[in-house]
Amino acid sequence: MKILEDKILERGKVIDNKILKVDDFFNYQIDIFVLQEVAKFIASRFDHIDKILTLEVSGIAFAVAVAYEFGNIPVVYGKKVESSTTINDDNYICTVHSFTHNVDNHIFLRKSFLKPSERILIVDDFLAYGNAAMGLIDICKQAGATVVGIAAGIEKEMQGGRKRIEALNIPVISAARIIGFKDNKPIFSKENY
Ligand code: 5GP
Repeated sequence: MKILEDKILERGKVIDNKILKVDDFFNYQIDIFVLQEVAKFIASRFDHIDKILTLEVSGIAFAVAVAYEFGNIPVVYGKKVESSTTINDDNYICTVHSFTHNVDNHIFLRKSFLKPSERILIVDDFLAYGNAAMGLIDICKQAGATVVGIAAGIEKEMQGGRKRIEALNIPVISAARIIGFKDNKPIFSKENY
């Protein structure tokens, strides 16, 4: 999506040819216009979604924008804790390795928020190795809910998340698809998103 790619080129900062910081417009400070355009694009690619599932914190704003485009469907988000000992049986739990912070987080979500009949779109700000998405897919599986797709604002395709998810026959859509970094500059895919 040109508007997001342009914004990344203009305002993004790449660290060590690995991490892309988009703090100025997509994470800590959010450009609402860009967010809404990206959300419109994502929502146009999926049908019949009952609920959006994301992960705190950075997925929430984007997930809310996408949900609004579907006509106000609910957003639920997994919460992260480093120790699982305080999580009771009312919750689904999975473990997700965070590559940006190099820690394992336990993700939990109250069981009553997901139903077996529901069609779920998993949304996150970034898709990289796919650990967060795989964890949320696992939670949907525990609930018996159907994962209709994974949608990311920004994808770093070279880190392999897409391959892992597509191997499960789950479609992946991202609004900016980065295939590599060179001299701390992103290279975007020419393929259809
Ligand atoms: P994954 O689990 O797919 O490896 O990474 C996805 C999660 O890690 C996202 O929730 C995102 O917050 C964070 N993340 C991964 N790579 C980046 C990055 O390059 N920049 C930022 N800002 N976050 C990232």
